[in-house]
Amino acid sequence: MPITANDPNRTTWLELPTNTDFPIQNIPFGVFLTRDDIITIGTRIGDHVIDLGALHQMGYFNGIDLTDDIFLQDTLNDFISDGRKTWRLVRNRIADIFDTNNPDLRENASHKEAIIFSLDEIEMQLPVNIGDYTDFYSSKEHATNVGTMFRDPENALMPNWLHIPVGYHGRSSSIIPSGIPVHRPNGQTLPPGNDTPVFGPSKRVDFELEMAFITTDANQLGESIPIDEAEDYIFGLVLFNDWSARDIQKWEYVPLGPFLAKSFASTISPWIVTLDALQPFKVAGPAPIKEQLPYLQYTGERSYDINLEVYITPNHGTANKVSHSNFKYMYWNMSQQLAHHTINGCNVLSGDMMGSGTISGPTPDSYGSMLEISWAGKNPITLNDGSQRSFINDNDTVTLKGYCQNDSVRIGFGDCSTKVLPANN
Ligand code: MN
Repeated sequence: MPITANDPNRTTWLELPTNTDFPIQNIPFGVFLTRDDIITIGTRIGDHVIDLGALHQMGYFNGIDLTDDIFLQDTLNDFISDGRKTWRLVRNRIADIFDTNNPDLRENASHKEAIIFSLDEIEMQLPVNIGDYTDFYSSKEHATNVGTMFRDPENALMPNWLHIPVGYHGRSSSIIPSGIPVHRPNGQTLPPGNDTPVFGPSKRVDFELEMAFITTDANQLGESIPIDEAEDYIFGLVLFNDWSARDIQKWEYVPLGPFLAKSFASTISPWIVTLDALQPFKVAGPAPIKEQLPYLQYTGERSYDINLEVYITPNHGTANKVSHSNFKYMYWNMSQQLAHHTINGCNVLSGDMMGSGTISGPTPDSYGSMLEISWAGKNPITLNDGSQRSFINDNDTVTLKGYCQNDSVRIGFGDCSTKVLPANN
């Protein structure tokens, strides 16, 4: 089925800010609370937020096989379960409804009043009930930097790394939408030179610049997803800040991997940009350095050219860009991650979320964590107010941004922004 919603020549009768992340070619999905405290599923065009529950009740989705309450829900899980054909039909229809040349809603003032909200009238919620969350470790530059710092520059990558998309199962209960502050975590750390740990607030709170994809129901327990079908089961992507406490992590991670250093919070951008909307930005990924096993071999382009940026804003200060990376740097792509995740028969469900791992590029200005940018604290950076940072201070706000851009269209993700509050006593 053609993705007519992606037509770069289409314009909308809604007013758009210049350079918006959300032109009519984007049509992401999210969940929001309206001015009347009603929770509903919606989309966004420019700075207008559109109530899909109300649109559906007024008959604008007639002819598409949808249950009456599909958008009157507090999560997207059921809609995502409907599958790719339905996502395409709905995105295509939304594009038609808001097309410059379509008068149906454009000329209906009372419908518009009920359906269209401005950003300051609504509050974004988590878009899905995330049943399971897995985090990968798929950037070769990031894995190499961390391996160089903590082990041996000559053998920075572990022997398995070029053969397996390494990952671990994370904690989904503490995933929060952009805008919700987090407290600096308390925990055990081993200060340099000590042989017994101390307890207290982490001194090395860090961001991880990641993207995450959200799946639909993909496979039965015991079955696996062939790599060439993997993208059929990916609904869309969000920006993902996988908050990390490096000092807690360093002490606790042996031998089973990340635990409390990661599970205190992770932030996502609230609008899920569909994989369909990102199709114009497909590119070839890095060539394999070592031959990969057949279940990880793919055909065609499976990487996506998504510019990624990180900003630190001190309390009462202005934003400092500290990194500019790109999703296309990932050594292991989403299809490989999903094929690997299910090769043992592990079932993947609607609303599951898979983090990419920290996305570092080849140069220091493209590193995706303060751990790498400050090289474990050895090279602090200076912000525009003159203060220095090796890691994140109390009351700093960290903002991730992401966007694709070609000659005709920009598809963005909006902000993924979180303020770090002091530790609780
Ligand atoms: Mn991570």
